[in-house]
Amino acid sequence: MAIRKIIQLGDETLRKRSFEVNQIDAKVIQLLDDMKDTLYKAKGAGLAAVQVGMLKRIFVVDVEEGYFEFINPEIISTKGEQYGVEGCLSVKGKWGDVKRPKEVTVKALDRNGKSFTIKAKDFFAKAICHEYDHLNGIVYVDKADNLRSEN
Ligand code: ZN
Repeated sequence: MAIRKIIQLGDETLRKRSFEVNQIDAKVIQLLDDMKDTLYKAKGAGLAAVQVGMLKRIFVVDVEEGYFEFINPEIISTKGEQYGVEGCLSVKGKWGDVKRPKEVTVKALDRNGKSFTIKAKDFFAKAICHEYDHLNGIVYVDKADNLRSEN
């Protein structure tokens, strides 16, 4: 079990575009395992590789529907709209309201290099969109209204 350090807003790495994963080797598997441990420890709903300082197009999500790993994800379609509160493990103690699609269909690779497509809605869709943005250097505070601090 290895917990990695979650970088915080202000670290310029968070603003960089992550790179496609060309090969799912032992290092990538280790990263996935560490991301799971890190996410559980932080009690978050999602974590992108860039948040632990690795510019790879990988994120993990832990929601009611289950625990999912996405490698080289692509959002292939979206439907509807939802608006609600979000936070981020890289923006501690802050919350804001963000507009997101109500449903998304995502295509990605799993850790075995197998392609899968999943349709997500509501909170699951929101989590995927939030994490997907991280892969392109976007942090939810860029899109949020009513950004507020925990108190
Ligand atoms: Zn985030």
